[in-house]
Amino acid sequence: MTNEFDLVIRNGRIIDGTGNPYYRADVGFAGGKIRRIAKRIEPSGTRVVLDAENRVVCPGFVDAHTHDDLYLLSRPTCDDKVLQGVTTVVIGNCGQSVAPISDAHRDVITGSFKFLGSGLNQEDLNIKSFDDYLQKLEGLKPGINVIPLVGHSTVRMCTMGMANRKPTTTELKGIQSHVSNAMRDGAFGLSTGLIYAPGNYATTEEIVELAKMLTPFGGIYATHMRSESEQELDAIVEAIRIGEEAGVHVHIAHHKIAGKTNWGKSTDTLRLMAEARSRGIEVTCDQYPYRAGSTYLAAVLPPRVLADGPKVYGSRLRDAAFRAEIVSEIKDANSPGWENLIKGAGFDGIMISVSRHSKYVGKTIAEIADLERKDPFNVIFDLVAEESREVIAILFMMGDEDICRIMRNPWTMIGSDGIPGFGINRVHPRMTGTFPRVLGKYVRKEGVLSLEEAVRKMTSLPAQTFGLKSKGLLKEGFDADLVVFDPDTIIDCSTYEEPNRAPEGICNVFVNGQLAAENGRILGAASGQVLRQN
Ligand SMILES: [Zn+2]
Repeated sequence: MTNEFDLVIRNGRIIDGTGNPYYRADVGFAGGKIRRIAKRIEPSGTRVVLDAENRVVCPGFVDAHTHDDLYLLSRPTCDDKVLQGVTTVVIGNCGQSVAPISDAHRDVITGSFKFLGSGLNQEDLNIKSFDDYLQKLEGLKPGINVIPLVGHSTVRMCTMGMANRKPTTTELKGIQSHVSNAMRDGAFGLSTGLIYAPGNYATTEEIVELAKMLTPFGGIYATHMRSESEQELDAIVEAIRIGEEAGVHVHIAHHKIAGKTNWGKSTDTLRLMAEARSRGIEVTCDQYPYRAGSTYLAAVLPPRVLADGPKVYGSRLRDAAFRAEIVSEIKDANSPGWENLIKGAGFDGIMISVSRHSKYVGKTIAEIADLERKDPFNVIFDLVAEESREVIAILFMMGDEDICRIMRNPWTMIGSDGIPGFGINRVHPRMTGTFPRVLGKYVRKEGVLSLEEAVRKMTSLPAQTFGLKSKGLLKEGFDADLVVFDPDTIIDCSTYEEPNRAPEGICNVFVNGQLAAENGRILGAASGQVLRQN
């Protein structure tokens, strides 16, 4: 007798992803699809039945904002995400996708990636087109579904390297055709990182011209805005203008209010988004549930410093006069045109997370300055001069009130923004803790959200935003991406000290019908799909 279902999950509390209250039912799936949801399924011939008594059964989580591009090449099972119940990741964020790579600027592009701990090197990226990267990923049979975006900084570097100026007409056409080609290859949209070099070098008009390339494909514009602190309201206005002028959906990445003097501004940022939505512009955002952010340390310097590549800025940063010039630029209260992260976090709020100087890891810039009897600015200049963009920092900048207000907002979804630690580096705990933290800390312990609303933000909301037609809901005919978790025990265990600890309470994770993880153990299912738009 043939099995009607590959598996039946019994007695679960079904949270279907719509935000509706849970109900009890059995779920049967076969061939990677959900085949039946009913009060009682009495399957013929099915041997495998999973009893989910008192547990939640819900759609697999969609991580709306990741930097898993290299992690997937290094660890296709994507352990850190699958162990959280994530079954789909959006990659290529903050302007930085791995592809395309032009031969003319290959060193500049691959030099901007952080390989530390990945086991990969520049030779592993012997690819050119966006399609080359997606094919390489497909060949590795990932254990998770992938939604790729193409990065603005990457396509700009393909055409004009790190040049700190407007593109010429010919160059703009070149960047536009890189965007179009990536969209043709299956990208879901374009990302920008407007605090980073070279993304920061682009004017609003340049980005509008690029975002227009998305319109025929129905692509999304996902942005790490030009400011998340002092000039954040201007940055929201810019993001909305880009969406409005290009006629595309605007998605604001890792929405936050950075810098104590700005706390409370989320009332205004959310109001600006609401006003745009009432004018008919599609605006959404994502968020990770932590008071600290993380990026490479060099991002605390004015972006113009990085224009000529690591060799040049490495030696310029050793020059005392140049250092003095940068210090006064950073101390300038208004820091026009770039995001002043030192102002937002302070030297005692910037902690070194990844560096070849292992004795600095886990210490703040202020602590290292004490230890080395150095000026804190010089600590930063020395580290960036020696290790360029491979030094990663954790920056404490956000307040709880804004975090909760942004989380309760109906069009905020969850995105980890995790920087992969490859199981060894001491990175931000969001890489391994984001989703269980929302469900354990913010739902169960603090009651900021209902369980059903939190699940909606992790499933149907991102699925709808990125145009996934068969994911994000527990519904017959949909893909069998499912999570079974214990709502009474689910919690993140990763900390700033021990970021590589897996969460608790995630019982089973299914990716396209295959069991990918069980009780904190990765099973090596290679059932993920590299999704291509259209
Ligand atoms: Zn970002």
